[in-house]
Amino acid sequence: MLRRIATVLFDLDGTLTVPVLDFPALRRAIGAPPGASIVHALQAMPPDRRAAAEAVIREAELAAARRTRPNRGAIELVQWLHSRGFATGIITRNFREAVDVTLAALGLAFDVVITRDCAPPKPAPDPVLEALRRLGREAASALMVGDYVDDLTSGRLAGARTCLVMNGPGPAAFEADLAVSYPEDLHALLRKAFQTPSA
Ligand SMILES: [Mg+2]
Repeated sequence: MLRRIATVLFDLDGTLTVPVLDFPALRRAIGAPPGASIVHALQAMPPDRRAAAEAVIREAELAAARRTRPNRGAIELVQWLHSRGFATGIITRNFREAVDVTLAALGLAFDVVITRDCAPPKPAPDPVLEALRRLGREAASALMVGDYVDDLTSGRLAGARTCLVMNGPGPAAFEADLAVSYPEDLHALLRKAFQTPSA
């Protein structure tokens, strides 16, 4: 399966970075029900309340972005992908400013970055399809990597292969073509598939 991959798309929070956003606290701050999608909660609000809630989320995302730390092996994986000619992308529901701060902190650049501005967001396939359109790449060559079910659903619906980052030993909580503990483990599998002797 990995031998056919030429494009790797990543979720950001909890996938390339160690998660720092406190989603339950954020939901409480904007009055969204526990477990609700924040994007959907925002869409359901009247305009004035929505603007205030968006300001709260924007601040929280920027504060989290300033505290960003890379997930295990994330930097090395992305650098290796670039050195081997893979196309790379970010598919996130965060605001663009927070994504820019995060990527600058990581010192990484990607061929395409899709943020909250893309509607409808994950778990719809649209952000993955938009990334592939901009890259001029086929879904069959793409791997969508994420730590949450919405990342995997979005990738699968777009026709891409999927990789779950479990952030621990597992077992996998969500169905994916591939499940790894950390980005460093995906890096090892790709190196093996493409037969490079070392990092
Ligand atoms: Mg995530």
